[in-house]
Amino acid sequence: MDLKSHEPFWLVKNGLLSTYPSLHKDESCDILIVGGGITGALIAHQCMSEGLKCILIDKREIVNGSSAATTSMLQYEIDIPLYRLKELIGTEAAVACYQACSQAIDKLGKLAQHIDSEAGFRKKHSFYYASRKKDVANLLKEYHARQSAGFEVNWLSEQEIKHKFDLTGAYGGILSKQGASIDAFCFAHELLKHNTQKGLKIYDKTELIRVINKKQRTVAVLSTAAKIATKKIIYCTGYETTELIPEKFVELLSTFAIVSEVDETLYNSYQDLLIWNTAQPYLYMRTTDDGRFLIGGEDEPFKDPIKRDNLIDQKSHKLEKSFNKIFNKPFYCDFNWAGTFGSTKDGLPYIGEHKKFKNAYFVCGFGGNGITFSVTAMEMVSCWLNRKDHALSKCFRFGR
Ligand SMILES: Cc1cc2nc3c(=O)[nH]c(=O)nc-3n(C[C@H](O)[C@H](O)[C@H](O)COP(=O)(O)OP(=O)(O)OC[C@H]3O[C@@H](n4cnc5c(N)ncnc54)[C@H](O)[C@@H]3O)c2cc1C
Repeated sequence: MDLKSHEPFWLVKNGLLSTYPSLHKDESCDILIVGGGITGALIAHQCMSEGLKCILIDKREIVNGSSAATTSMLQYEIDIPLYRLKELIGTEAAVACYQACSQAIDKLGKLAQHIDSEAGFRKKHSFYYASRKKDVANLLKEYHARQSAGFEVNWLSEQEIKHKFDLTGAYGGILSKQGASIDAFCFAHELLKHNTQKGLKIYDKTELIRVINKKQRTVAVLSTAAKIATKKIIYCTGYETTELIPEKFVELLSTFAIVSEVDETLYNSYQDLLIWNTAQPYLYMRTTDDGRFLIGGEDEPFKDPIKRDNLIDQKSHKLEKSFNKIFNKPFYCDFNWAGTFGSTKDGLPYIGEHKKFKNAYFVCGFGGNGITFSVTAMEMVSCWLNRKDHALSKCFRFGR
């Protein structure tokens, strides 16, 4: 599967941060992590912290899947509003999912500090606004649901939004205290490098082809003809997990993003804010740590990479026009790209075991909260490795 177009901004901005060898001799470990994106980096960090002998492999260069294309908005808000999630899975579980995403943001911030990250982690407020008058009633319902669940939120009217943020076409919105952003490409590289210094072995251009389950151990057969004997495999294979698991559990679509030239005025006005709206598909916006403005959206319900990449210019133009309307300013585009995105029936990820895979866990942090879900998965994996249950196992399990 081709996960992204060729030049997402982060790849160009950071260049090739580190490179690893492919594996050509047999190895053994406690935990084999398959996939070296942001999820694999976080899970590898967790397993290394547990004192386990870990190997991570990736079939591409490291961090060259979706994590190179992500816009990395870190939100406690899930793609499905809290009031609707409560109807789907019950109040307690829905609030727990929102709270887990909120805690994940702070956990990621602490981790960034711990490894002296230069990936620009920055706490921001998050603003979710009604882009159509008819969306205001449901957004108010959502505001009350979040308020009664204890989240720090304020309601802004159309006039207040104009006054505070100078946005046009925003008919009311929820301003949340919790949120952040990061350069996930850079952070995943940093975290992996940090752990190689502690003994993590990483091999890129090394694909998992087949798994043989023996009595005492599991053997991973690789594209390089080498084998890895391991106690557990943790699949952090992103959207390509759909090629492994027979049943359909996620809708794959294409999303588009553009990044402006460095713009001091725009940066100064919106550097502490994540913005998204109720349009369908929704628009998501933020500044980057190097002073640019980023907008994503214009999703299309297919994943065909040729069709997707042929649309990049047209979609960029549409995103620019949306920017012009909302901010009454021109947008000077420097970079544009497209990537595969995933949407699940309840906005929640799939994290856990799958009955067809022995000695394995999957961490599929899909949707607009892919990254925060993967942070939550660190704690979940830790519980399972220590033979404990985790409160969110049921909410995120396969076959739910
Ligand atoms: C444009 C865009 C905007 C987004 N915005 C946000 C956002 O604002 N906030 C947010 O939280 N999320 C966002 N997402 C989603 C987020 O990017 C993903 O959830 C996240 O990057 C997934 O990381 P990952 O490590 O699970 O997957 P990936 O980064 O895709 O990594 C999976 C890795 O597994 C490897 N792999 C697959 N199969 C094998 C195999 N058999 N053997 C070896 N290696 C294998 C792949 O090569 C790949 O490198 C966005 C995504 C896109 C495309």
